[in-house]
Amino acid sequence: MGLDITWAVDWVRRSAQVIADHRVELITLDREIGDGDHGENMDRGFQAVLPKLDDLAAGSTPGDVLKLVATTLISTVGGAAGPLYGTAYLKAAAAAGGAVSLDGTAIAAILTAARDGVVSRGKAESGDKTMIDAWTPAVDAADAAAAAGVDAAGVFAAAADAAEAGAVATEPLVARKGRASYLGERSAGHRDPGAESSALLLRAAADAAAA
Ligand code: ADP
Ligand code: MG
Ligand code: MG
Repeated sequence: MGLDITWAVDWVRRSAQVIADHRVELITLDREIGDGDHGENMDRGFQAVLPKLDDLAAGSTPGDVLKLVATTLISTVGGAAGPLYGTAYLKAAAAAGGAVSLDGTAIAAILTAARDGVVSRGKAESGDKTMIDAWTPAVDAADAAAAAGVDAAGVFAAAADAAEAGAVATEPLVARKGRASYLGERSAGHRDPGAESSALLLRAAADAAAA
């Protein structure tokens, strides 16, 4: 079954909830290798989206919701993550286009567009210890699942599993991008906060798709 506007709105609500639930954890991770604001920034952004969901026009599409998230995150999150996530959701919205329902292949294309947007904006490569280390395994898993004919919910489940593993795998890495790179070798031994928030958001998408 394809994912529609009900799923998109549910994803945003679940995203706001999961980010609020993990706010302190994200702050703690960012305090270890950054400036400690990632949980605060992301929570502010997603809380700002919630009231706007009520103003969505009748007939809105998943792409409209993704665009709403993008513009809100760009104007409220700040730091490195605001523009990066804003770009991710903006590119995802463009890939979704005006489609009313998204199948597994569409979801894989949307995730690819989001990841490519983050890369073109932040210039991080795999292994630089950023959110890309969650996104790229997620995109690869989503592509493989879609190619195997898995449905949209299954594609998101595969992406979320891979993103979680990717976030855990950032722990031994030395950061080469963002604030954590200022620490050099001392950044090793800590999970990247943006990789962790990315995994949380993809899990929320999978949960909304399975609901
Ligand atoms: P800031 O570092 O400005 O305080 P945040 O704490 O909100 O911003 O976000 C930090 C996260 O942003 C990092 O954990 C990392 O995942 C991500 N990040 C930083 N720079 C880049 C980049 N160039 N490309 C991809 N992700 C990045
Ligand atoms: Mg920070
Ligand atoms: Mg900051």
